[in-house]
Amino acid sequence: MSEPRRTIQADVVIAGSGPGGATTAVELAKKGKKVIICEAGKYHQRLGQSTFMLLGMMDNMGLTFSKEGTWVLRPKTAGGASVVYCGTAVRPPPWLKEKYGIDLDEEVDELYKEIPIQTLPDNLVGPAARTIMQAAQDLGHDWNLIDKWIRPEKCEQNCGKCAIGCPTGAKWTAREYLEEAKQHGAELLLKTKVDRVLTESGKAVGVRAKGPGGWMDILAETVILSAGGQGTPPILQRSGVYDAGQGFFADPLWFVAGPSNIQGSIYDVPMTAGEINAEDGIVMTDLMTPPTMFASTLAYAGQKGIMSLPKVLRYRKTFSIMIKVRDGLDGRINLDESFSKPLDYDTWWKLNKGAVLAEEILMKAGVKRDDLVQTGVMAAHPGGTVRIGELLDKDCQTPIQNCYCMDTTIIPEPWGLPPTVTVVAMAKRLAKHLSVPAEAKVAAQEPA
Ligand SMILES: Cc1cc2nc3c(=O)[nH]c(=O)nc-3n(C[C@H](O)[C@H](O)[C@H](O)COP(=O)(O)OP(=O)(O)OC[C@H]3O[C@@H](n4cnc5c(N)ncnc54)[C@H](O)[C@@H]3O)c2cc1C
Repeated sequence: MSEPRRTIQADVVIAGSGPGGATTAVELAKKGKKVIICEAGKYHQRLGQSTFMLLGMMDNMGLTFSKEGTWVLRPKTAGGASVVYCGTAVRPPPWLKEKYGIDLDEEVDELYKEIPIQTLPDNLVGPAARTIMQAAQDLGHDWNLIDKWIRPEKCEQNCGKCAIGCPTGAKWTAREYLEEAKQHGAELLLKTKVDRVLTESGKAVGVRAKGPGGWMDILAETVILSAGGQGTPPILQRSGVYDAGQGFFADPLWFVAGPSNIQGSIYDVPMTAGEINAEDGIVMTDLMTPPTMFASTLAYAGQKGIMSLPKVLRYRKTFSIMIKVRDGLDGRINLDESFSKPLDYDTWWKLNKGAVLAEEILMKAGVKRDDLVQTGVMAAHPGGTVRIGELLDKDCQTPIQNCYCMDTTIIPEPWGLPPTVTVVAMAKRLAKHLSVPAEAKVAAQEPA
């Protein structure tokens, strides 16, 4: 490897600027720490313009596939996946506290006060979302409005651009925390990819990274890896933690859709309403992807999908439901960021059941049986790649002392839920932990 050209000093260095990295950065910068955040992507501007802009923010222009062929969306931009996420907020599941003793109540309450997380007001519930919700309720589903990280006063009716980057600033993204962190002295190094953790006697002393100016060493007493479910494992593997990336969830999803007689789902806030069945591990919500992407996901479903392409010419009137399921932990992230994600029997069972229910709901909402189309399987939530209780302790410290993970990698079990509230709350908790002086931590652990 090339020798580093320069050395920078900080208190904390963070790899990745998504919700996990940005939250830790702002919380620690506010406490007076000198924080440097390395982000492999650029700071893409002019959000909400087009699908091509969206693909430009993705790794490999959006063309990232598992070895088995599941299409995985992997945003690489300042703010991470939150720039293009749907802004859906779901509280951490109770089992985190019951089984792992991780109580996030305080952090979640803090978060809900900081950002107005709430269901959309009536005027922002679009006609498609409303019709689908009514149909689902008529069929006995527990289908309701979902909490959103969206400020209603900034959100525009019929805009529907959340997933290509909110153009009005209504949707919260991790960029807000990045900007706040910068105001408190944090430095954001763009197009800077962390390669490995530097260690001395088993302790982290910084990271080696490559930025626009070449290789550099960023020395810091605390290293936080927040490069996302697929980005963090290779950094750890290169640092000698070879079990990182062994097993992960992806929360596979697909869509069932069909034309209606009124304005379609594309104009709505995605995931306005739905049924979140945490028991079954099946989430169903209204959601239509941008037209080019929707056509691609249909084509990706194979011959049948390609044959159904003409039906989405009526995409402006198309109702669409996303079915997302909790999968198992089969799979592996490799050093070159390639990955394997086999979908097991149980995962397909849930995908199929969800699709049947979605078909029934759409038909109740007025879509004709012959007009229903179904996409190929995709995924957008890779995580659980460096799990708490296995490679991480309860405070998310890795086998390398002073090196922590803080992103979706830490989630200890199969998931199946929108993860951002949990990741942000965990990051707040980590920042509190890191702010307690070492002596106080030892004293707290000693018996009275
Ligand atoms: C289309 C879509 C819709 C979604 N909708 C929702 C939703 O409605 N609600 C919800 O809760 N979640 C949603 N998610 C998931 C959510 O956005 C992510 O789970 C969340 O952003 C994860 O945060 P993170 O901190 O783990 O990492 P990420 O957001 O993945 O950020 C990781 C960052 O690290 C950078 N990086 C990678 N490797 C390196 C490296 N070696 N060095 C430096 N930087 C690196 C990447 O460029 C990236 O910016 C959605 C995701 C997608 C793709």
